[in-house]
Amino acid sequence: MNVPGLLALRGQPPRVTLSEAEDVARTLYGLTARAAVLDGERDRNFRLDTSDGSRLVLKFIDPEADDIVVAGQSAALIHIAEQNPQLRVPRVIRTQSAAEPGVVELGARGDRNTPLSCRVRLVTYLPGRLIQNRSVGLPNGQLLRSTGHEIAQLDRALAGFFHPALAQPIVWDVRHAQSLLPVLPQVRSATVQRLLGNALDPIEQLLVRLRGLRSQAIHGDCHGRNLIVSDEGDACVGIIDLGDMIHAPLVLEIAVTMAEFLVDGVASIDAIPQLLAGYTSAQPLDHADINVLYDLITTRIAISVLIQTWRERNAGVSTGANASADSNGLEETFAKALDALASRGRTRLIEQWLDAAGLAVPAHGPTAAMSHGPTAAMSHGPATAAGAEAAAAGDGVTVGRGSAPHADLPPGDLLRRRRTALGANAELSYDRPLHLVRGDGVWVYTADGERLLDVYNNVPHVGHAHPVVVAAIAEQAKRIASNTRYLDERIVDYVERLTATLPPDLDACLFVNSGSEANDIAWRIAKSHTGHDGALVMTHAYHGITDAVTALSPAICAKVPPHVEQLAAPVAARHAASPTAGYTPSATAGRAPDATAAATQGASPNGVTVEADAAAAEADVATAIARLATRGFKPAALMIDSALTSTGIYDPSPSWIAPIAAAVRKAGALIIGDEVQFGLGRSGSNFWGFARRGYYPDIVTLGKPVGNGYPLGVVITRRAILEKFQRDTGFFSTFGGNPVAGAAGLAVLDVLEREQLVDNARTTGSYFISKLRNLAAEFEAVRDVRGCGLMIGVEVTDRVLTKRLVNGLRDRGVLIGSEGPLGNVLKLRPPMPFRPEHADVVVEALTAVLSAANS
Ligand code: PMP
Repeated sequence: MNVPGLLALRGQPPRVTLSEAEDVARTLYGLTARAAVLDGERDRNFRLDTSDGSRLVLKFIDPEADDIVVAGQSAALIHIAEQNPQLRVPRVIRTQSAAEPGVVELGARGDRNTPLSCRVRLVTYLPGRLIQNRSVGLPNGQLLRSTGHEIAQLDRALAGFFHPALAQPIVWDVRHAQSLLPVLPQVRSATVQRLLGNALDPIEQLLVRLRGLRSQAIHGDCHGRNLIVSDEGDACVGIIDLGDMIHAPLVLEIAVTMAEFLVDGVASIDAIPQLLAGYTSAQPLDHADINVLYDLITTRIAISVLIQTWRERNAGVSTGANASADSNGLEETFAKALDALASRGRTRLIEQWLDAAGLAVPAHGPTAAMSHGPTAAMSHGPATAAGAEAAAAGDGVTVGRGSAPHADLPPGDLLRRRRTALGANAELSYDRPLHLVRGDGVWVYTADGERLLDVYNNVPHVGHAHPVVVAAIAEQAKRIASNTRYLDERIVDYVERLTATLPPDLDACLFVNSGSEANDIAWRIAKSHTGHDGALVMTHAYHGITDAVTALSPAICAKVPPHVEQLAAPVAARHAASPTAGYTPSATAGRAPDATAAATQGASPNGVTVEADAAAAEADVATAIARLATRGFKPAALMIDSALTSTGIYDPSPSWIAPIAAAVRKAGALIIGDEVQFGLGRSGSNFWGFARRGYYPDIVTLGKPVGNGYPLGVVITRRAILEKFQRDTGFFSTFGGNPVAGAAGLAVLDVLEREQLVDNARTTGSYFISKLRNLAAEFEAVRDVRGCGLMIGVEVTDRVLTKRLVNGLRDRGVLIGSEGPLGNVLKLRPPMPFRPEHADVVVEALTAVLSAANS
């Protein structure tokens, strides 16, 4: 691997004894002194206490160090002393014969017993402690400002300095980051690998911008181990070790300190602007400098991990100051710093830093631009959901590594163009709309580099841009994207895999491109199979956008047509406990009874017993069927979303649906299980939602999650029913079931199984629900927490509060939605790799927004 400067890291300080150091002090410098060992990564350093009471540092310079580099340091120290005698950097002391550096012959050493000719340098000692080693707490604002100021003074002194040594290739220089990319696959943790990949993504664009910036000699390594703090702990009183000086963009100087302080925990992300303010008070920076600061910092952090990894993989290489920490811990530390930056987001931080640097924040910044546009995320319709999901999934898949982020795109302009292109009423989620350009697992990233936790989108079922799914789609797209009129293994494999998880007689599939289409076809099949044309749906149900299916969707249908009757939501389910039984794939294959085998007994906390709920459901369905009859309709189907999502997210016991299913069958109707929301294990207890509910569908419809973002809709039913429909209609969908869709569907099933995501939905879901219930106990505004697995509803007092909470969470980097006829249910429905630590992030943010709403 050709990494400039990396080999220099192999160097070991020369071995020198205390008495040799004292000898050299005497012979070369005419000093009588006692030597004590000091730390040093590449040089061997000694503190000298001289007989006249002064303190100095004697350095035996790394024998591998280039002569030109050693000469460069001498020249720089002399230059700084000349330009700013007040500046607290080490002063060079020449040898008695006025040499700098001096040269000594050390006695025989090493395997070959050869004498070592070694360059030495004597410098003044700077009293105080290293910032890194301060024993009390984090630095206060005053110390951070003073540190920034001191570094800026150094840069001012260096402004006119030039030396050929400044061109030395240093591996820590962010401009060489690309040469470290081969180390990336060696990073232990896949999560850290992904974070680093993201951090290094903008590198090409960054390099172009850096080449346009004001550059000069900089120290290049002002971290907490090279900065000295006064005994009182409130001022920076020295900067040491100019071994990594380079000619580079000036802003890189403070970027390095900011990055290192964040990683080492010397300063929090909230405190770091003080450092910058201190720096710019003595050395102003301009907009162009601050605009690259975020990327410089993340790149510096990323290369630190890569260098660390490289060192570990190359036995015998010193791991420097971090030698004692274990590498996993280190990776975690670096990842935390990257996380903290990403959570705040590039735009917000750059705004803060511009402010700290005393520069104006541009008026076309995101805050101004985002006040435009409708606040459609809060319009409580599933159509809103579809819009946001399309945005997230679509962008997430198409924007890959190396693509330039659209950081410079004025959001206001895009909003304007969008309004013209898509129509002013095209729904847009959140008061401050999101311009998503990438997704990764449970995270989404905006064009501004802001990272948000996705607790809303169920389309990326196994995680945004899951590499296995993306690869499967790309592989097949590279070969052929034909249609089901040709033979192809993929779609047949897919049907076989899918039907193996279903009751045995649900054994054949039709393919379309969306949940709406699947429901449309299911509805057509039900009508032709039964000869009836009435429908039963849940109150405020949503099943899609075609003409026929909109009629079955009271959530979006202004006037429910006469052939449709709505059934009431379960009541006891508001507080039904979430079953915790383990998920076993085989249990899902069996026929789910239209019965009450798994019924939860007893009363719920709201006093409504499940028996009373079942009795109410029985009466309700009877009345609905009777009402249809009075209008001349017999029911062809009950269409039901097993998660009861748009109805308000409920998790009723099977005893609730049993009388409904019985009445529907008695009336000669089919049951269409809309598994668009709840299918593929979202409940955590069953692979299919109907199995959890305890009913047995005649037709199952699938959409959204099955292709993880690739359009795929499926209608599953009994072969006899399907064949009759094909005969009667000559059904064919051009895109439906094409081999690329088949590849996507198969990959989703693979990942679900391999990553045990259904189990995860159960355990994380239970954890999440219990944490949310604690919130319900704390905040009166939280009325109910219900659902199961990773389909959770949090009912709050009203629509207005819901809107505040949803937008408040968005501002804190957490995306959720809202649901229910009253628009007062927070919808938490993340991708399936959502883990307890993500739940903690949500609960913390929700606590904060609820508290803010209270005050
Ligand atoms: N059924 C349910 C239960 C849904 O939630 C949705 C979409 N939100 C649909 C059907 C329609 O799916 P699509 O938007 O893919 O047409």
